[in-house]
Amino acid sequence: MIRFDNVSKVYPRSTRPALSDVNVNVERGEFLFIVGPSGSGKSTMLRLALREERATTGKVLVAGQDLSTLSTRKVPRFRREIGAVFQDFRLLPGKTVDQNVAFALQVIGKPASAIRQLVPETLEMVGLEGKGKRLPHQLSGGEQQRVAIARAVVNKPQILLCDEPTGNLDPKISLDIVHLLDRINRAGTTVVMATHDADTVNDLRHRVVQLDEGRVVRDEEHATYMPRV
Ligand code: ADP
Ligand code: ADP
Repeated sequence: MIRFDNVSKVYPRSTRPALSDVNVNVERGEFLFIVGPSGSGKSTMLRLALREERATTGKVLVAGQDLSTLSTRKVPRFRREIGAVFQDFRLLPGKTVDQNVAFALQVIGKPASAIRQLVPETLEMVGLEGKGKRLPHQLSGGEQQRVAIARAVVNKPQILLCDEPTGNLDPKISLDIVHLLDRINRAGTTVVMATHDADTVNDLRHRVVQLDEGRVVRDEEHATYMPRV
């Protein structure tokens, strides 16, 4: 579903590669944690998979598309296949919860009838029933991240990419959020989560790809993460 073949990434005006010769193959339905210290290249892997950045060398294949040959014109359609969740939630502050989730469907031209059904159904799935009329600032951080997750999955993407989704949340709420991601994964969505939060990794014990200075130093099933301190 996601494949990195000998991928290296050197950002413009940078000398050190952000990624060096990365080989990772994520099968349909997998849950993968990408771990490693700050600056090790976790976000860069996700940005390459979203085609926000391009590999300097090597190939990135996502949902059957070779992203090195995907034209810029085709990027928006490609991104519809992929949900994305970030540390800072990225909700539209002036819109209600319902509107934030609905907007993701409106921009891809879903009919109003489908939106009326999908929005409440998805908010219930993430545990936010009854909160649709609130504005983001009237919600806790954990609730705001649930809205962001609802928005990312409302179009039923094949892949959900999460970049430090628990980075702004306290430990108990972080576990609630990864349990929600785990549930979404068990319903069939391929999930990739970049994190340096060992507690969430160790709770789920899924596959772990560990990066250090842009290199894969470990790739293990049912794994834990013990960051060096
Ligand atoms: P992580 O997500 O693990 O913190 P990143 O992928 O954000 O790591 O960063 C990997 C390396 O690439 C770091 O050295 C970082 O400073 C560098 N980097 C990230 N984004 C850029 C950019 N836009 N321009 C130049 N260097 C960048
Ligand atoms: P950025 O805001 O940095 O451009 P992205 O475009 O990658 O972030 O968006 C991340 C996720 O949030 C994607 O799944 C996208 O569908 C969704 N998204 C982004 N902006 C909006 C928006 N204005 N309304 C609804 N969904 C959005």
